[in-house]
Amino acid sequence: MSHEITPSRVAEERTPKLWTGDYYNEGISHEGVFDKLKEECGVFGVFGHPDAASLSYYGLHALQHRGEESAGICTTDGGDFNYHRGMGLVKEVFDKDRLGSLIGSNSIGHVRYSTSGESKLANAQPLVFKYRDGDLAIATNGNIVNANQIRKELEAKGSIFQTSSDTEVLAHLIARSSKDFVAATKEALQQLVGGFAFLIMTNNKLIAASDPNGLRPLTMGRLGDAYLFASETCAFEVVGAELVRDIQPGEMLIFDENGVVEDRYSEMQRRSLCAMEYIYFSRPDTDLNGANLHAARKRMGKKMAQESFVDADIVTGVPDSSISAAIGYAEETGIPYELGLIKNKYTGRTFIQPSQELREQGVKMKLSAVRKVVEGKRVVMIDDSIVRGTTSRRIVNLLREAGATQVHVRITSPPFKNPCFYGIDTPNRQELIASCKTIEEIRQEINADSLAFLTKDGLIEAIDSYSTQELNGGLCLACFDNDYPTEVQFHGTEKFGCGCE
Ligand code: SF4
Repeated sequence: MSHEITPSRVAEERTPKLWTGDYYNEGISHEGVFDKLKEECGVFGVFGHPDAASLSYYGLHALQHRGEESAGICTTDGGDFNYHRGMGLVKEVFDKDRLGSLIGSNSIGHVRYSTSGESKLANAQPLVFKYRDGDLAIATNGNIVNANQIRKELEAKGSIFQTSSDTEVLAHLIARSSKDFVAATKEALQQLVGGFAFLIMTNNKLIAASDPNGLRPLTMGRLGDAYLFASETCAFEVVGAELVRDIQPGEMLIFDENGVVEDRYSEMQRRSLCAMEYIYFSRPDTDLNGANLHAARKRMGKKMAQESFVDADIVTGVPDSSISAAIGYAEETGIPYELGLIKNKYTGRTFIQPSQELREQGVKMKLSAVRKVVEGKRVVMIDDSIVRGTTSRRIVNLLREAGATQVHVRITSPPFKNPCFYGIDTPNRQELIASCKTIEEIRQEINADSLAFLTKDGLIEAIDSYSTQELNGGLCLACFDNDYPTEVQFHGTEKFGCGCE
C-alpha cells in the first residue's frame, strides 16, 4: 500500500495561501511589483541510485529558480511509493527525517509555479495515482494546450479529477487504456498538444518524454550506473553527474530493470526550444542544446552593442539574468561594466501585507542602485525583457534617483508581444506593453533616454545552438513573432491583438 507522508494539519494551516495577499513574495511577479515572467516548473528524476531522494533534493534545490511555490519527491524501491509534497521552497518542504523516509532507488521530483491549475497543495507534484497495474507518479514541466478539451471528454466518460492540474489528464488517459503501461503511455502522449517534459514513474519503470517540438528542456545525465533527468544541466553539476544528452522532441526513454529502451511516440515536429530559456529562465551555468547560457547571454549583449550602440560612461545589468549580457555589451563597446544595481539576495517571503505605498516601493526591496557607481554617469542598463513595463520604469527611476544623468535601456530580446501557451505564465496580450505601444511610446513610459530591443535574427545568431540550421535556429519565438509551433487555443481578445488597438 502506498503511503503519503502528509504535513501536519498545523503546518498545513500555517502554509500561506499563495497569491491571495496573505504574504508578499518579493522574488517574483505579483500585483504589479515585479512584472517579470514567472518561470514554469522544474523536474528531476533518478533511476537506479540508492540515494535517489537525496540526489533529488539537491537537484531540485539547483532548479529552485524554476518554481518556488511547491516541491515534491516520490520514490520507490520497486514496491510501494513513498512521497511527500508541500508548499514552499525545497529546503522548507523537506528536512532530514522526511528525506530519510523516502526510500528507494528510483525517484521523480518537482518544483512548481502554477502555470495551469490553482496554486494549492493538491496540485503540487509529483501527482501520484493508484491504477489498475499499481502506482503511477507524474512530474511535468510545461503546459498541455488541449488539456481542457481532453478533460471534458474524459469527464463525459466518467473520469473524476482530483486536481485542477492539466497533468492529471495524462494519468487518466494512461489509466483508461487497456494496453500495457508503455503502450498506454505512448498512446496517451500522442493525444497531447503543447509544450511539456514528463517524468512518469511506476513501481518498476521510469519514462522520460519530451513534446514533439521540444519546447521545454529535458536532459539526461549519468552518475555511476544511475541515470538522472533534469530540466537543466546545472542540477547535474551539483550532484556530480555528467551530462549524457538532451531528450529529443517526440522521444520517450523507458527505463526498467532490463535497461533502457529509446523509443518515440511522435516524429519530431519543427524543433522549437523556448527562446526565453536562453534569455531569462535558465541558470547561466546550464547548457541547452549545446549552448552554455552565460556564453549565449554574453553574445546577446555583444550583438545588442553591434545593433544599437549608444555611448555612455558605464554598462550595468539588471541582476541576475542580465549580468552576462551586460558583460558582453561592455566587452564589445569598451565601456566599463559596473555593478550599478545590486540585488537583495533574500528572495524568500515576508508575511506582511504590503500597503499600496509599499507595493510601489517594492522594487527597492529587491534592487538597489549603487549611488557611488552611477552618480553623474550616463548609464546603459541591460535587461532581458519588458513585460508590462512597470518594472523597467521603476528600475530606470532607481538609477535616476541615485544620480544617473542618462539611462539608456537595451533589451536582449525582441519586443514581447504575445502570450505563451507552453507553460510560461504571461499576462494577457493587452497587458503586454509591446503589443500596444511603439518602441518610442515604451521609451517614454519607462522614462528612458533611449530604448532598443535585440532583433530576432540577432537573438538567433547570438544563441548559436547546434540547431542553428533549423527554422528560427530551432527556437520557439512565438511570444515575439506570433508564430506558434503548435495549435493554440486563443480566448477573447488575445487572438486579435490588444484591447487598445
Ligand atoms: S511563446 Fe515565448 S515563452 Fe512561450 S515557449 Fe515560446 S519562446 Fe518560450
